[in-house]
Amino acid sequence: MTDGWALRAPCRGQDGFTPNEDDWTNGDDLKRLCGPQLPTCGPCPFRAVCIATVKPAQAKFDGIAGGRLWCNGEVIGALDDVVEEELAEPKLRASCGTEAGAKDHTRHCERPCPSCRQAVREMAARRNTEKAKEPKQLQLDFTTT
Ligand code: SF4
Ligand SMILES: [Zn+2]
Repeated sequence: MTDGWALRAPCRGQDGFTPNEDDWTNGDDLKRLCGPQLPTCGPCPFRAVCIATVKPAQAKFDGIAGGRLWCNGEVIGALDDVVEEELAEPKLRASCGTEAGAKDHTRHCERPCPSCRQAVREMAARRNTEKAKEPKQLQLDFTTT
């Protein structure tokens, strides 16, 4: 991380915030290996941005971020003063080149990128073809004799 805040964070240059892959198998191992580093996050003013950057839940993160100890993206330990608002991870955006991607562009007040525009055109064309293939509406006769 080269962001300015990371250079000013209390954990800067410190080890032990993430476990060596070979050293752990479960949450207790993580508590033993990384737990002692948790108090470092205590005075850190960057907990929310730390979580927004690491995206521990989405990334299935193991280790310490934002005043919490994470195991496979779940919080298994935390400082006493953590607050819910720090946990807001940015929503994942749909990939480009899909209809959902195009919608996300619109939602973010952006013009859909060329591959998303293409995807929308292709979907519309596909729907039109499907519609053309549909049998003409059946004439149902409900009149009773
Ligand atoms: S919250 Fe903890 S892990 Fe994140 S930047 Fe601050 S000290 Fe480092
Ligand atoms: Zn796009």
